[in-house]
Amino acid sequence: MSATTQGSGVPVCPRCRSNTTEVRGVSPVAGVWTVYGCDTCFYTWRSTEGEQNTNPDKYPEVFRLKPENLPKLQVAPRIPPLQPKAQ
Ligand SMILES: [Zn+2]
Repeated sequence: MSATTQGSGVPVCPRCRSNTTEVRGVSPVAGVWTVYGCDTCFYTWRSTEGEQNTNPDKYPEVFRLKPENLPKLQVAPRIPPLQPKAQ
């Protein structure tokens, strides 16, 4: 296990296979679902989603990310400043 492991039972990220994941939330009724999030690529998933969203081996290859490539990705366009209200 790596030093960044957040504790037992938290899965690796399906998208980037990082283990910098943590529980983001749990169902109001205990044990129904858990929401996990990845601090490396910011992928978030719920435990009850299908395996293509939750299992690193079944996650679609075309959407997988490598942590070492994240700094090279294009920056999303900025939201332009608000225009003054028309009066
Ligand atoms: Zn990730």
